[in-house]
Amino acid sequence: MRKKVIAGNWKMNKVLKEAEQFVADTKDNIPSSDKVESVVCAPYPFLASLVDKAAGTDLKVAAQNMHYEDNGAFTGEVSPVMLKDLGVTYVVIGHSERRELFGENDDTVNKKVHAAFNHQLTPIVCVGETLEQRENNETMTLVENQVKQALAGLTDDQVKQTIVAYEPIWAIGTGKTATSEQANEVCTHIRNVVKEAFSADAAEAVRIQYGGSVKPANVDELLAQSDIDGALVGGASLEADSFLTLVEAGA
Ligand code: PEP
Repeated sequence: MRKKVIAGNWKMNKVLKEAEQFVADTKDNIPSSDKVESVVCAPYPFLASLVDKAAGTDLKVAAQNMHYEDNGAFTGEVSPVMLKDLGVTYVVIGHSERRELFGENDDTVNKKVHAAFNHQLTPIVCVGETLEQRENNETMTLVENQVKQALAGLTDDQVKQTIVAYEPIWAIGTGKTATSEQANEVCTHIRNVVKEAFSADAAEAVRIQYGGSVKPANVDELLAQSDIDGALVGGASLEADSFLTLVEAGA
């Protein structure tokens, strides 16, 4: 049985006081990590404080991105070594906003996934199609290629620890959720791709989240699908009450 993982992606929202208040408001009510993994993906300036404030609780802290090099002349970037040193445990890699707005591609995503494992960070690797690609029936091929390239060169054990987030771009921040059948169809395909490229064991273990306008009203139905092992949630993760409802749904 795969444990569900619910990750709230705050994107570029909140100031430090609000982020700290969120942790104060949620940390004692987060379900046990034996039942569900609960993660907040926060902006870099909040990470140290949130790790400290969430210490000893079942709320885990993620970064929304990182560079793949350990250090060097990369002005403005943050390295996996720095994240690890702060006590961050997960990192989002290749979110569609990073791919669309900041020039990330399958090659940088693959480098970052390897860098995450080199520093014991759990990668949440985002894949997903545009509306145009869906309408042109390119979803399955596109997602297959993204998954294969993102995970290329990993060991079976590393794949088992990876979280893939299937996020149809047309459903992110739009209020349009993929139907649970549409979402599950692609998540099943991703699992089959992992089986072919790695092994049946790796495919059975890899967690596949759905992301795209997930909210308390639709989370139960999505999580009930056979191949959906959690959710990556933007808008509905910003409020403590809503986030708690989402993590409870995964427990
Ligand atoms: C996201 O940020 O990855 C996301 C899915 O956003 P939203 O839930 O707001 O659609």
